[in-house]
Amino acid sequence: MSIQDPNCIFCKIVAGQIPSRKVYEDDDLFAFHDIAPWAPVHFLMVPKLHIPSMTQLTPEHERLMGRLMLLAPRLAMEQGCNPYPDGGFRLVCNTGTEGGQEVHHLHVHIMGGPRPWVRG
Ligand code: AMP
Repeated sequence: MSIQDPNCIFCKIVAGQIPSRKVYEDDDLFAFHDIAPWAPVHFLMVPKLHIPSMTQLTPEHERLMGRLMLLAPRLAMEQGCNPYPDGGFRLVCNTGTEGGQEVHHLHVHIMGGPRPWVRG
């Protein structure tokens, strides 16, 4: 897949131009471990498409985002999160500067594993 936004670090990760610890990949979605984990399990899920944030989502993205949400619990368990209800995971999608977003390529954090966590 050709790079979508040459200034975007997550586009570069998706394109393999910046190394990452890959968790999952298909035609539309990519998941990789966060470089600064808050929890024993902490990975990011991104659409390969460069969508800056949730605020740019349109009805065209409904299936893409639905797939991401359905994939999240499966990958969380595969990565070592403990089963619901005693285990589980946290899913975070920071949006905009006041929402704590630092990388402006839509991504969902999946965090889990035994507490205490580093943060969160
Ligand atoms: P956010 O504040 O929601 O935009 O989160 C961006 C996340 O990307 C942070 O948790 C960073 O640790 C993570 N991050 C930044 N650069 C990389 C990278 N090269 N590989 C993996 N994770 C990264």
